[in-house]
Amino acid sequence: MIKKVLIANRGEIALRILRACKDLGIQTVAVHSTADQDAMHVRLADESVCIGPAPVRESYLNIPSIISAACITGADAIHPGFGFLSENATFAHMVEEHDLIFIGPKADHIAMMGDKIMAKKTVTRLGLPTVPGSDGALSKIDKAVKLADEMGYPVLIKAAGGGGGRGMKVARSKGEFVEAYETARRESGIAFGNDTVYLEKYLENPRHIEFQVISDKYGNAVHLGERDCSMQRRNQKVWEEAPSTVLSREFRDEFGRKIAKAVSEMGYVGVGTLEFLYENGQLYFIEMNTRIQVEHPITEMITGIDIVREQILVAGGEKLSFTQDDISFHGHAIECRINAENSETYIPSAGTIVNYHCPGGPGVRVDSAMYAGCKIPPYYDSLIAKLIVHGKDRNHCLSRVRRALNEYVISGVDTLIPMHKKLANHQNVINGDYNIHFLEKIFSKESE
Ligand code: ADP
Repeated sequence: MIKKVLIANRGEIALRILRACKDLGIQTVAVHSTADQDAMHVRLADESVCIGPAPVRESYLNIPSIISAACITGADAIHPGFGFLSENATFAHMVEEHDLIFIGPKADHIAMMGDKIMAKKTVTRLGLPTVPGSDGALSKIDKAVKLADEMGYPVLIKAAGGGGGRGMKVARSKGEFVEAYETARRESGIAFGNDTVYLEKYLENPRHIEFQVISDKYGNAVHLGERDCSMQRRNQKVWEEAPSTVLSREFRDEFGRKIAKAVSEMGYVGVGTLEFLYENGQLYFIEMNTRIQVEHPITEMITGIDIVREQILVAGGEKLSFTQDDISFHGHAIECRINAENSETYIPSAGTIVNYHCPGGPGVRVDSAMYAGCKIPPYYDSLIAKLIVHGKDRNHCLSRVRRALNEYVISGVDTLIPMHKKLANHQNVINGDYNIHFLEKIFSKESE
């Protein structure tokens, strides 16, 4: 049994993990940069350690500092949250080398899924459908052009080590291919230190649908249903829903069980998300995230399962306390990501929160580390709160989303609340009729 967890993260996810630990009677150690010394996760933790100056390289990505902090405070496990070191296989390996438990999958699984080419090969072998594309890395330009010709345009050139929606370039015709290929390679080399790229058919109007899984060390794996994360800007999610409006109960059940079986066969342990694109009634795998995700709470709302609690328990060696047949889905949940950004330009906005009033009432949950007077430093991700709403069905949920957004007061920085208010009242959203291009190609153009 884990007794003390060091939380190697900040902001709302650090608080989320801290809360799961407190519910389990586990001691908590917060780490923070000098910019975060007054942050809520530091105030609420049992102990805290300053691990370096504001820039992430020197603090939240500083592996020696974080491992030293765990050793000094006598922690027996490290929870990486998401972002930062959560998908860094070297970190996971080093944590284990120091006789600490990494609350996540084995380093080998992180490495395997971190390479998107390898990830696609693995799930193909396990019988899951993937987006059609190159067999592996593109090495020679003439071969790549030939393959693109055979596949038919448009095609997408993607970074094998990519993440955060970066390192992708669309080529709509042969004339665009060479430049798109060179740009994708150059950008992924700079962003990820790896210029390996691969090719995928560019799907014109897909939805992004992902399945949450959790598995233990004893080969038990279950799926917790899907989330629809099609509302995106710059390939990044801003609004998520569970369940998706396009999957039938039978489809979910059958496909979900296939996924859980694949995860068990892989020997994967912990929480994970398999991401798919959905077009013409089919799901096509794009990648797997080997960590807790920002949007996990909507799955918690419809299943009643505390995913972070279960994640900590399976990392500590416990058996999953439920089987697939124990899991049922109730109502509908929506998450609005409240980023400190301008609602139209998406330019990040740092500053001090002046007034803060958090919405509440039936069906409303807010995950945030914000308080009146707190600072939103410019150095980190702009996500400052997640508004998570549950209702007995989708329409009920949407009215509660509107109610909660109207109650929410955040002043001192720009936020995405005005955008979410418009979205929650948009006819396409009310009808559940949107795909990954809706926000940029339709909604933003209407707002201009
Ligand atoms: P990242 O790891 O950078 O987030 P993903 O492979 O998960 O990259 O893709 C992020 C988003 O990019 C998807 O949700 C989708 O909107 C878009 N995308 C990815 N692959 C394709 C594709 N083959 N066709 C169309 N859009 C895609």
